[in-house]
Amino acid sequence: MTAGPTSAAPTVTAVLRACPLAPLEARVLLAHALGWRRTELITRGGESLDPNALAAFRMLEARRVAGEPIAQIVGVREFYGLEFDVTPDVLIPRPETELLVETALAAIESIPRPRVLDLGTGSGAIAVAIASARPDARVWAVDRSGAALAVAARNAAKLLDPGRPGGPIAWMAGDWYGALDGASPASPALQFDIIVTNPPYIASGDPHLDEGDLRFEPRGALTDESDGLTAIRSIVLGSGPFLAIGASLWIEHGYDQAASVRALLMAAGFADVRSLQDLAGIERTTGGRRV
Ligand code: GLN
Repeated sequence: MTAGPTSAAPTVTAVLRACPLAPLEARVLLAHALGWRRTELITRGGESLDPNALAAFRMLEARRVAGEPIAQIVGVREFYGLEFDVTPDVLIPRPETELLVETALAAIESIPRPRVLDLGTGSGAIAVAIASARPDARVWAVDRSGAALAVAARNAAKLLDPGRPGGPIAWMAGDWYGALDGASPASPALQFDIIVTNPPYIASGDPHLDEGDLRFEPRGALTDESDGLTAIRSIVLGSGPFLAIGASLWIEHGYDQAASVRALLMAAGFADVRSLQDLAGIERTTGGRRV
């Protein structure tokens, strides 16, 4: 077959080849524009795109070329095997944060009906992943952004069994532990078996804030507008009354913050303080146990 005139409807394969984006990104966006599964782009690669489908793809392509994150363009991102809705109101779930979920699940493995608190839940990725893996867990999740909590609640509705024994996730609006004031009249001294958090930990001057996906994510989810440790300090220092004896606190942090977070936890009297490496070999999460 010879190449037709440029006005002829191009095939799926030809559109993908001519796309300036990375091949995987081009396939994700074209599949989204067509409403196809990604494998269909291969099995149906010889089909021509009608003008409407092509125009729809060109719009998505232009948004990506302008820098908009793929997850925001298609509105979803897979995390811990679950497909989370994503909007510009939430941090896009990151693969390295699955380490925090794994670590939390291991920490509560032998605790029946564990009480879990997720601080700064954003899209709800951590809270929902834990609630999904542990249907008996009772989960509370805090965020100061009402818009983020709306996304998180939608994700829970989409991804969790409504009849899970642990009940629905309790979404709380406010700043860290402040959100829990008067949370439950039945438990004035609400205590948890584990607290997990992926707080804003990028320092305000970090050039990464002006690069890639981060430019399009909520700034308040990324940086404390200070040295990067403000949120982590508040979370560690305020944790005492909310952790049962023997309960643990696990914090995701920046690539160069592990020693600082360990020092904060040890100064606050935590035992078994240690950092864990993500798949890239970076110390990414640090935790300890209240004694
Ligand atoms: N891990 C994110 C990044 O470096 C930052 C998320 C956060 O501040 N919690 O892109």
